Amino acid sequence: MTPDIEEIYTCYEAHVNPVYPSFLRRLGIPYPAASAEGAVIRDVHGKEYIDCTSGYGLLNLGHNHPSLIEVAIDQLRSRQPLTRPMITGIQARLAQRLAAATPGDLECVFLCNSGSEAIDSAIKLARLTTGRPKILSALGSFHGYTYGALSASGIPKLQKAFGPLVPGIDHVPYGETPAVQAALGPDVAAVLLEPVQHEAGVRLPPDGYLRAVRDLCDAGGVLLILDEVKTGFGRTGPLFACDSLGIVPDILVLGKSLGGGLVPAGAVVARKSLWRRFGLSFGMSASSYAGNALACRVALRVLELIGEGPILEEGSRMGGLLQEGLGEAVHRYPSVLEKVRSVGLLASLRAANPALANAISSSLCRRGVLAMTAFGDGAELMFEPPLIITERQVAEVAAALEDSCREVLKDLK
Ligand code: PMP
Repeated sequence: MTPDIEEIYTCYEAHVNPVYPSFLRRLGIPYPAASAEGAVIRDVHGKEYIDCTSGYGLLNLGHNHPSLIEVAIDQLRSRQPLTRPMITGIQARLAQRLAAATPGDLECVFLCNSGSEAIDSAIKLARLTTGRPKILSALGSFHGYTYGALSASGIPKLQKAFGPLVPGIDHVPYGETPAVQAALGPDVAAVLLEPVQHEAGVRLPPDGYLRAVRDLCDAGGVLLILDEVKTGFGRTGPLFACDSLGIVPDILVLGKSLGGGLVPAGAVVARKSLWRRFGLSFGMSASSYAGNALACRVALRVLELIGEGPILEEGSRMGGLLQEGLGEAVHRYPSVLEKVRSVGLLASLRAANPALANAISSSLCRRGVLAMTAFGDGAELMFEPPLIITERQVAEVAAALEDSCREVLKDLK
């Protein structure tokens, strides 16, 4: 039986999650969503929200992109088999396209269903090919919620309830080359890093950090895994964040916007030299829906769309405008907001404390702008709208932020 509109939250509370609907109500989102298009979500009563969460970063092309819907329908109508045991051309074409789009000599692709699955597979690939047990990750990092990915993440409060974690994963401070140097040794298979951290607010490493880590890895026979699940597909400006750094990892991990916000998709893209043993280990990571034809067809179109139009350039321009708007609010309301950190369309705004961040978030939601606090730090408000957000929408976000800060400041007095 389908619940009617009024019952949706209570039904969700009863059968899905007992606390999420009240969190949404507190934020000022009293009704369920009905539809979404581009950067906008509409609730069942027609109220519109500009989505600055991008579904937590997977909607670089926005909600329900018409061209992605079209290819998805076309793929389903084709009656091609969705998945194994036989193969169709579509996985091979997507893999070829990913090999061409990613930097350097990354050539071989493992397709899966999520960023977390891709991280787990990258860790397995590194251990399998080097024969070494240890993975070095960074404090403050986030790599997902499956056990491997969670264990690799460097945010203890997210891990605490689920121990014991996967052994053999050590963490070093992010952005500090000497810490990586000190931790490397003959038992280290790989260093796993995000080009930009974001789960506790945006953290850019110092200039030269990733280059230095790349060099240390080369010197020690250690693999470099870059997690671009969030930063990939134009989020930070270029197609991949590593493009602008001139760094080629041994293993690149992708997800989120690879599926266009429409279908679950993840990928591990690696050097051919790492692939021989992995290829023989089919049972190691191949889950039932991994690399299914529908996901591959949508992902192929994602790559085409990003390659065809000025999406990356426009996304960067919108990123600049958003940064200006957020910076202006920091300047005008220093007792409420401390600083903005951003790259491309990935921005975090630090409030003076978590209570103020929550108050601003809920004031923004009531004004039709969805911006949530970071999982890893409740004082950081995240802004990561789709790359196709319009100039007018960015201006609306900035205006709503101005009004929210004024309201919060008034309540403080
Ligand atoms: N890596 C990074 C950098 C992420 O931001 C996330 C998700 N937020 C993941 C991995 C996990 O991806 P997924 O949610 O698709 O499992």
